[in-house]
This record gives sequence, C-alpha cells and structure tokens, in this order.
Amino acid sequence: MPDMIIEEAPQRPVGLFLIIRQISQWGLDLLFPPRCGNCGRVDVGWCDDCTTLLAECPLVSKLKSLSETFSVISSGVHEGILREALHNLKYLRQTQLVSLFGARLASLWVEQNRSADFITCVPMGMNRLKERGYNQADLIAQSFAYRVHIPYIPHALTRVKETISQVGLSAQERQNNMRGVFKAQSEEIRGKIGIIVDDVLTTGATLSECANALYDGGAKRVYGLTITRASDVF
Ligand SMILES: [Zn+2]
Repeated sequence: MPDMIIEEAPQRPVGLFLIIRQISQWGLDLLFPPRCGNCGRVDVGWCDDCTTLLAECPLVSKLKSLSETFSVISSGVHEGILREALHNLKYLRQTQLVSLFGARLASLWVEQNRSADFITCVPMGMNRLKERGYNQADLIAQSFAYRVHIPYIPHALTRVKETISQVGLSAQERQNNMRGVFKAQSEEIRGKIGIIVDDVLTTGATLSECANALYDGGAKRVYGLTITRASDVF
C-alpha cells in the first residue's frame, strides 16, 4: 500500500543516525576513555576508591576572622584530594561529589555547636553561570542545608554588578573588584543569623563583601563556611 511506504520512509534516517551516533560515541570512548579525576583510573569520571578516600578525608577545622563581626570556618587546606575533587566539581561536571561536600560541611557545622536561621551561598555572575550551567557553591549549600535542617535561601544575596575574574589579582585589587557587588534581600534575613557557603577561601574578599551585604540588609550575625582554604590564608 502506498501510504505504508510513506510512513516507513522517514524512520530510516533516524535509525541510521542513532547507529552512527552510537558508533561515534564508542570511537570517542576508545580514543579518549573517561578517567578518574583523582587517581587516573580508566572508565569513570571519579572512581569508588576515591569516593571513599574523599568521604574519609579528615576534617581540619580552621577559623579565620576577617573582621570583628565575620569569621570563616573551613574544613581543610586547598590541597590533595580536596583540591582535586573541587576542581572536578567546578570544571569537569562531577556533580555527584556535591553530596560528599554537603556532608562534610554538615559535620564541620555540627562540631562548631552554634545556631543559625538560614543558609545561603556566594552568587555566581550571570556570564559564568551561563558558561558553566551551575554554581558549585549553590549545589554544596543545598546539600548542606538539607542535612542540618536549616532553611536554604538561595536568593538571600544577589549580584548587582558583574566583576572581572579574581585570578591573578592582589588582595587589595580583589577587595576593590568586589566592592558593592552584592545586595541582600532584606525581608527574609532581617534579625537572623546566616551562613554563607563557598567552595574555597582565598583572600576572603568575596565572602567579606557577601557578609557586609547581609549585615547591611539587617542580618544579626553572619558566618562563612568553605570546603577549603588557601594554605597562605593562615
Ligand atoms: Zn580514583
């Protein structure tokens, strides 16, 4: 029947396309096999052994006072498996590592024996967010908030101006670059104690500006929490 021929005809290119795509994928996997971002083992982006190593990586709780009213607590130095794992989360889309980081911050926070009313994160600039597709600090903060049962307010801080990359800038230049970048959403944070989450503490310029914005918005007390700190911070 002629109309049956018309129905079958378009299916051929689709089937052929799927086969070609599958063969191309096999070819790419053969030429560039995925490797664990920590130990280099072939076939996975982050292997089970390195997941166990990361989960068991000891907490080295360090507190850095950036001002009289703002301190940042970090769970370790930016080196070894912590540095590799953060790099894999930020640049290689290994987002399955988020829950381990969330659990790590939860243990760190419980150790502090303090209370808080809300959790937020350092907001990412629109250009970088479009490029990367996700904000790693947002993902970690969500996972952390879920574990410690403290409300997560992702929009507590907004970026009101774009900044140039902080890489290669001096401490003073970073501070100037970040001035007036953030604004707090006042209604939900007024009179409350908040935690700002970020992945790494370097000079503290970004986190300090976030804390200033939250205080300007009426927060009662603000803490910073990061997975790692640059070794030269302390
Ligand atoms: Zn591995």
